[in-house]
Amino acid sequence: MKHLKNYINGNWTEGDAGSFSVNNPATGEVLAMVPKASPEQVRGAVDDAETAFRFWSKETAETRSNHLRRLYDLILENVEELGRTITLEQGKPLKEGIGEVRYGASFVQWYSEEAKRVTGEMIPASHKNKRIMVLKQPVGVVAAITPWNFPFAMITRKIAPALAAGCTVIIKPASQTPISAIKIMELVEKAGFPKGVVNLVTGDAASIGNVFLDHKKIKKITFTGSTEVGKELYRGAADTVKRISLELGGHAPFILFDDGKLFDSIQGALASKFRNCGQACISSNRFYVQQGIQAEFIEGLKIQLKSFRQGNGLTSDTDLGPLIDQRAYEKVSDHVTDALSKGAALEYRGDIPAKKPNGEGGYFYPPTILSGIGPDMKIYREETFGPVIPIIPFREEEELLTMANDSDYGLAAYVYTQDLSRALRVSEALEYGIIGLNDGAPSTAQAPFGGFKESGIDREGGHYGIEPFLETKYISIGL
Ligand code: ADP
Repeated sequence: MKHLKNYINGNWTEGDAGSFSVNNPATGEVLAMVPKASPEQVRGAVDDAETAFRFWSKETAETRSNHLRRLYDLILENVEELGRTITLEQGKPLKEGIGEVRYGASFVQWYSEEAKRVTGEMIPASHKNKRIMVLKQPVGVVAAITPWNFPFAMITRKIAPALAAGCTVIIKPASQTPISAIKIMELVEKAGFPKGVVNLVTGDAASIGNVFLDHKKIKKITFTGSTEVGKELYRGAADTVKRISLELGGHAPFILFDDGKLFDSIQGALASKFRNCGQACISSNRFYVQQGIQAEFIEGLKIQLKSFRQGNGLTSDTDLGPLIDQRAYEKVSDHVTDALSKGAALEYRGDIPAKKPNGEGGYFYPPTILSGIGPDMKIYREETFGPVIPIIPFREEEELLTMANDSDYGLAAYVYTQDLSRALRVSEALEYGIIGLNDGAPSTAQAPFGGFKESGIDREGGHYGIEPFLETKYISIGL
């Protein structure tokens, strides 16, 4: 049994509050024991990160850039092993695990470049004897709390811009998937980041979260996870007016008009729904399909799904892995049972693989298509986070927009149409931060990722993604 450690101030550290096990969701096998850091240890890590901030923030942009570039190169040298780690602890097919590593690495690469382009401004003054100078400075020590669905990329997407800006960080990964995070720390150490600049603590989420919230030296929290926990952190951050960035839940509408390209829309639906077994905040969650194309769309999906292979992500031909845990499995089952009990029709259900490949565990939920979905069903309003396609028919654009915007969430939406005017009209009218217009996979390092409404605050990616780690300072100069 592997016993892994936390990484605090450049030291590999045991947890003073004990340890916990990490399981493979495809088999139930225990993969490793991971430390439970005590509140005292977390407070110590914050102090160390603050000491490190004093010099890291004063390093040249070029030095910070070079460190990130070395980290990027090391990630690429270890793509296979990192991808395998993700698959083992998270369950996604190996090709997706490797895809996530490449995607995660692209943020490190991008911000190694962007580190050199953080600039201020000189603004013309109203008096001849004055000058107005604006500087951008790093906010300080950052706490990064990350989820289990993209255990690698959600970390790099946060720490790369933070480090580029001159902040130091403490990472708290999800308890289901801390092993990928620990592997990142091994590479951080190899890349030569000075001690205290990047730290990692694992353990009880609420107790670590409370230390972050209470500690005055934490100047910013960046969080990806559930809307519920995000709101708690938002409230908790108020006492010390901490900066906070939130990437929360989604309930993405996938919209197909009669004039959309059928083949492309099916490919887009599969990509946006089944990546990570539907466990992404930008996963399509409700499918609005115009009446004239509904039958063909469902038929096309069924044909594709028949060749989908579900199973252990390490098996080479697996397309779809398990859900992360029992709770996730129960939620998806509940959404489907609820819809069927209220009159939805079961259009398709895949064969469930042997539930217990090695005699234990395995949270496999089969790909499922439902039609006749209505507003009284849970699946219509809530984020399902599983491999289910609920289809809602519509007639007219106006009716569609009312339904699509009728949500507290506003992260991603997908639109398939060949009509240019409609494409722009609908994209502008949708109250969502990300629109996949004839595109089922919009995420990329150089673009702003984030949501409207209760889906979050701030953006990650691109030049937008470094701003939340910077303060603006105005210096008024009298000559
Ligand atoms: P999910 O429901 O998808 O697991 P969570 O929001 O619970 O999403 O988890 C996202 C991250 O937030 C994880 O790292 C988790 O450990 C952490 N977390 C959960 N509860 C709290 C809390 N009260 N304070 C701080 N972090 C938390």
